[in-house]
Amino acid sequence: KGERLRLPPWLKTEIPIGKNYNRLKNTLRDLNLHTVCEEARCPNIGECWGGGEYSTATATIMLMGDTCTRGCRFCSVKTARLPPPLDPNEPYNTAKAIVAWGLDYVVLTSVDRDDLADGGAEHFAKTVSNIKERDVKILVECLTPDFRGDLLSVEKIALSGLDVYAHNVETVRELQRYVRDPRANFDQSLKVLQHAKKVKPTLLTKTSIMLGLGETDEQIQNTLTGLCIAGVDCLTLGQYMQPTKRHLKVDEYVTPERFAHWEKVGNDMGFLYTASGPLVRSSYKAGEFFLKNLLD
Ligand code: SF4
Ligand code: SF4
Repeated sequence: KGERLRLPPWLKTEIPIGKNYNRLKNTLRDLNLHTVCEEARCPNIGECWGGGEYSTATATIMLMGDTCTRGCRFCSVKTARLPPPLDPNEPYNTAKAIVAWGLDYVVLTSVDRDDLADGGAEHFAKTVSNIKERDVKILVECLTPDFRGDLLSVEKIALSGLDVYAHNVETVRELQRYVRDPRANFDQSLKVLQHAKKVKPTLLTKTSIMLGLGETDEQIQNTLTGLCIAGVDCLTLGQYMQPTKRHLKVDEYVTPERFAHWEKVGNDMGFLYTASGPLVRSSYKAGEFFLKNLLD
């Protein structure tokens, strides 16, 4: 160990570009939206923005600034104890821009803001209700922080009018301390997902796990079982990629065949859908999966 692993061929392949991609790319300019898709140079952008079989264009928007109060060892977002204050006009302006942009499915996400009393829950919720007031047909997913387990914050978002409540456990139970900020943990994250479902049972809940951090098959299996028993609806699994030299090294590039294996395990276990592949991210083609699995 100690050496960096070489990138395997399945991570170098060209990704198809769907038909909405150019339209979205060209209209984004003047809207002042911060898409994770572009800012993180996500390789799935052609597919997500392009929409697929159902032509459901999906994008992920970052709320509450670019500075996080936490420092997870897999994440390259910058950290500060006291990030700049929230822009009070962001919920209104973002909703307006998203509706003007012409998306079908939007994922709203954010940095963690442990400096704010409600962790930014109200801000999230306002953005959702502003979007839905303008266009009720846009499907909205929130990929939220854990709010340090504050269930009132979770509730605010769960009742804001969204369609999917996502929160990522990020890795198997055994590697939580090694991978995530010490303020996060598996049970707290599970509680967030369960509470969202409890206050709004029609909501779909969703979580995501990165593979390639040194987890064993048994740990993956047990983690999936735990999530399933807890009633989480949807699951995504993808390869961990080291963002810079200062971040956790990749322990293993998991093969596409193993990812397919875990997809089958998830589906057999009873998740509503499981998306698993080297390039799958928690928001990967989220709109397509939503329609394919839930409206068919
Ligand atoms: Fe954007 Fe997420 Fe799709 Fe990447 S996977 S292009 S971040 S919506
Ligand atoms: Fe990155 Fe989220 Fe961890 Fe902040 S809480 S460092 S944004 S993964």
